[in-house]
Amino acid sequence: MGKSTIYENVLTQINNAADILNLDGQVRELLHEPMRTLTVSIPVKMDDESIHVFKGFRCQHNDVLGPTKGGIRFHPQVCEDEVKALAAWMTFKCSLVGIPYGGAKGGVLVNPKELSRNELEKLSRGFIQAISPIIGPDKDIPAPDVYTDAQVMSWFMDEFSKLKGVNTPGLVTGKPVVLGGSFGRHSATARGVMYITIEAAKAIDLDLNGATVAVQGFGNAGSFSAKFLHEQGCKIVAANDSKGGIYCKDGFNPVDAAKHKEETGSLKGFQGCDDISNEDLLTMDVDILIPAALENQITEDNAENIKARMIIEAANGPTTPEADEILFKREIMIVPDILANAGGVTVSYFEWVQNLANYYWSKDEVDRKLEEIMVEAFEKVYNTHIDMGVNMRVAAFIVAIKRLTEAMKARGWVYNDHKY
Ligand code: GLU
Repeated sequence: MGKSTIYENVLTQINNAADILNLDGQVRELLHEPMRTLTVSIPVKMDDESIHVFKGFRCQHNDVLGPTKGGIRFHPQVCEDEVKALAAWMTFKCSLVGIPYGGAKGGVLVNPKELSRNELEKLSRGFIQAISPIIGPDKDIPAPDVYTDAQVMSWFMDEFSKLKGVNTPGLVTGKPVVLGGSFGRHSATARGVMYITIEAAKAIDLDLNGATVAVQGFGNAGSFSAKFLHEQGCKIVAANDSKGGIYCKDGFNPVDAAKHKEETGSLKGFQGCDDISNEDLLTMDVDILIPAALENQITEDNAENIKARMIIEAANGPTTPEADEILFKREIMIVPDILANAGGVTVSYFEWVQNLANYYWSKDEVDRKLEEIMVEAFEKVYNTHIDMGVNMRVAAFIVAIKRLTEAMKARGWVYNDHKY
């Protein structure tokens, strides 16, 4: 049997929960296919005067709960299947944490590390122009994702505002504070990961003080998760990025490691650490494993060898359905992506609310409100996991699908007499 695609993995996740809910065909049908996917070609005049045409996508999965929401990634491996899957996960993520959004995602096939700043700006402006007919503060609101940041969001917002002749901060989230960004958005995904890790540790009776942690991926989500968990008393013993990994039995300071990465371009060679391969990092004997990179990292090929007591998915889609089953049998707790990394989109929601109101909150207010939402979502999922005897991912999808179904019923998209 060939390996399934990422979107096929999402369908399996939906069906696993839908089967338990005895979900009617209409709801499944609506959740199985995205509403729309726009494919665009973006011509960019490069620094050497040549024209390069980049390919990009914006997929809007489902908008029953509100305007669609989700990041835009710049990555050489972006494809339509991946963007569709990431858009679907956003639908379930937003539903799960109770914010009024549907799910979307975008991507451009590019290695941004190979572009000059000037080329990157042109590509960012070109992409937002190309998708401008289907986005807007009350339609679809982009945000950062893999290899995009506050600077790219600024170009998006500026270009769209010029195009429409209206200053539109609510078009995107993840902007710098000076342009209407929210305090706390930059590190929100990781702050959410921290709140969730605290709750999950309580649930499995793990003392975070001295608990060992391995982090796969050291971008925004990974590096800040390491920082926050270090502040909680955890010992960060391993981390990696696309260029290699570092390991230190006694733990290292993740803030210094991030500084080293910023200065040298990678974690490799960080003082006091040995090299470690990606496979060895994933199967290390640690208390907590945090995948914070890309999809399909924990698979049937390595799930038997995972030694962590719990896995907190800061990345989207790091674990395949086959690996899920193996890990559930082995009683390793996985806190699924749609719960664990929902802090990012939650603070994106706060940012958008502040933009629409033109009234800005303090960092404390943002953090407090984020904690409240994350803890409540964890409790809902954990209780469903215990009450129904299903794994945490199925439980998270059950909670999310119930809310989506209720909204579909209310809108008249599905029959009213349906059980859910
Ligand atoms: N890209 C992030 C995610 O996957 C954030 C999306 C957002 O803030 O809209 O959840």
